[in-house]
Amino acid sequence: MIVDYIIIGQGISGTWLSYYLQKEGQRFIVIDNNFKDAPSRIAAGIINPVTGRRHATVWMADELLPFAWNAYTELGEAQGIRAISQKKIIDFFPSAQMRLSFQQRVEEKTDYVRMSSEEDRFRSMFNYDLGFGEIDPVYTVHLENILPAWRKELLKKKLLLEEEFILSELQDNKDKIQYKDIIAEKIIFCDGPSSAANPWFEKLPFAPNKGEALTLQINELPPDNIYKKGLTLAPLADPGHWWIGSAYEWDFTDVDPTELFRTRVSSLLKEWLKQPFSITGHFASLRPATLERRPFVGLHPLQSNMGILNGMGTKGCSLAPFFAKQLTDHLLHGIPITPEADIKRFSKTLAR
Ligand SMILES: Cc1cc2nc3c(=O)[nH]c(=O)nc-3n(C[C@H](O)[C@H](O)[C@H](O)COP(=O)(O)OP(=O)(O)OC[C@H]3O[C@@H](n4cnc5c(N)ncnc54)[C@H](O)[C@@H]3O)c2cc1C
Repeated sequence: MIVDYIIIGQGISGTWLSYYLQKEGQRFIVIDNNFKDAPSRIAAGIINPVTGRRHATVWMADELLPFAWNAYTELGEAQGIRAISQKKIIDFFPSAQMRLSFQQRVEEKTDYVRMSSEEDRFRSMFNYDLGFGEIDPVYTVHLENILPAWRKELLKKKLLLEEEFILSELQDNKDKIQYKDIIAEKIIFCDGPSSAANPWFEKLPFAPNKGEALTLQINELPPDNIYKKGLTLAPLADPGHWWIGSAYEWDFTDVDPTELFRTRVSSLLKEWLKQPFSITGHFASLRPATLERRPFVGLHPLQSNMGILNGMGTKGCSLAPFFAKQLTDHLLHGIPITPEADIKRFSKTLAR
């Protein structure tokens, strides 16, 4: 088989890269092992325009958010699925200090945040003492619809191999890449946390962290909001189904779900939520995060037939479509990649 690109991984990064390469009429094959606990398969899919305890506006929010809305809407329409919904975050203040900090951001006339004028609005559903702020607009990307729909499309067109990619079987014949019987111009790694162990890219400053989440059945909660109080409770596309998470651990011995997380979340939910709930799933995965919280996009400086679209950290849903498009434009038309994301910034490190 002769193709232009081999893409490793069909998480949200590989999905978007294959989507844009297909739009450009390129020949490619995606190889994905269908790992059920890949971060893209367990994430909540939230695109939040603010971040951290100070509710700072996220990097490139004004470009990334509209781009994501349009891209997911287009993909959803083409696939006949619901790919993205607009929501608000109802941010219940866990402490007086957090209320003050939120209030300060509102007074600074920061976009996306406002205090609520109806503090009793959620009394029948939640226990809370210190009121809440609102973050608006926020999006939820329905990964549980998108990833299987795009997989089906790729399989139908024979553009996906459902198997483990074995790095030691990759041959680099200088101008061409060969993997088993596939000959390609380039190989692009969209394999999430696996890239941190790839000899060509392991020197990039990856900082993977472990996250956990539960899925829940809650019948009576309005799904037009995401609710937050330390934990984030987000509606899934299927009515009555919810996601709650997540932990951020940098020090871990394995990537398995823990009893500690499940017990902690259940007892917090029992205090916070007035509705009955049942736990339907428990997942854990590694976020492909990076030390300086910027993605890794572009071609290897010494090995121009090898590329990467990775390092999406906690924000894969907003970063992946934007940077998949940038990488496609770079590969096909030589258009520069945003410098803070381009792996050219690590040329010296990668050349060692
Ligand atoms: C608990 C949790 C909650 C999160 N919530 C959010 C959120 O609300 N919003 C948000 O934007 N982000 C969130 N994230 C982060 C988000 O999940 C990641 O940024 C994103 O999924 C990364 O996507 P990716 O496609 O780059 O990598 P991955 O999702 O890791 O995809 C890589 C793909 O490659 C495949 N693969 C890997 N190695 C091989 C191999 N050797 N052979 C074949 N296939 C291989 C994997 O099976 C997988 O399908 C969350 C993460 C976690 C863990």
